Amino acid sequence: MPKYPGLERFILIEKMGDGAFSNVYKARDTQTGAEVAIKVVRKFEMSSNQQPKGVERANILKEVQIMRQLDHPNVVKLIDFSESRQYYYIVLELCPGGELFHQIVRLTYFSEDLSRHVIVQVAKALLYLHEDKGVVHRDIKPENLLFYPITFIPTKNPKPRAPEDEDKADEGEYIQGVGSGGIGQIKIADFGLSKVVWESSTMTPCGTVGYTAPEIVKDERYSKSVDMWALGCVLYTLLCGFPPFYDESIQVLTEKVARGQYTFLSPWWDEISKSAQDLVSHLLTVDPEKRYTIQQFLNHPWIRESDEETHAAA
Ligand code: ADP
Ligand code: MG
Repeated sequence: MPKYPGLERFILIEKMGDGAFSNVYKARDTQTGAEVAIKVVRKFEMSSNQQPKGVERANILKEVQIMRQLDHPNVVKLIDFSESRQYYYIVLELCPGGELFHQIVRLTYFSEDLSRHVIVQVAKALLYLHEDKGVVHRDIKPENLLFYPITFIPTKNPKPRAPEDEDKADEGEYIQGVGSGGIGQIKIADFGLSKVVWESSTMTPCGTVGYTAPEIVKDERYSKSVDMWALGCVLYTLLCGFPPFYDESIQVLTEKVARGQYTFLSPWWDEISKSAQDLVSHLLTVDPEKRYTIQQFLNHPWIRESDEETHAAA
């Protein structure tokens, strides 16, 4: 493990992710004994060929500033922020399961119940971000959705069942954070591209209330609707295992997205309910004025079908 100046309080355990300018490590906090995640971000400097080599201060400070204001069970918590000459260190609540992305790869696709279990949690985080905090995330995707694994521990020895009870669930409980059996709590991570569209102190649109121009009000709505589009892409991907828009050529892909050109491809979508397809199509709507808001999403029958928290194990 590399050594970083100023991070002596932590013991780095393993690398959990890497990006162009950042490495994320699992680490132990020697003061509290707790396991955390540390995002180490290289500072901005110009390399010899004039390509920027790191992240600018303003961007990191914005990411940290936004995360500081957030406190929700489905949003990764910021624990600490510090820096050295070359790096920024963002200490975060550890999500031991890692990326949802890898679970989609592992399982090929999710059942409708498991997809609902996941997407409802993402939506609850978006409801909090959009409605309570005026924050738009702008980078919702399976790589930025992390989770806690759960494992089902039977409390009784499974007994042979009467035929009428055959598909009754085993008695037991789901233990959070142990093993790699299923998907428990989902957390949104990576606020690197996020933005506040409301003044956070007054919770009003930026500018004086009553004097706000319609394009600002619209702008705010539009920026929230980008998260709803992304939510639709995630839900589509969970249900069938591949994304709604794909092409080898970036140009063709861009055209497809611009036109909202996707299909519920047979045979993969044949067994998926019409209700789920209806919900996806209300999110993957090109016109942002007609696209579902977070409230409309949460009121859709497919979401309300099973209101009780299902601990859908994978
Ligand atoms: P980037 O801006 O480089 O995408 P992210 O914040 O998305 O940075 O972190 C990159 C990756 O590191 C994530 O996709 C995930 O795999 C891992 N990671 C980030 N934060 C955590 C965390 N709190 N717990 C576990 N893994 C994390
Ligand atoms: Mg990311």
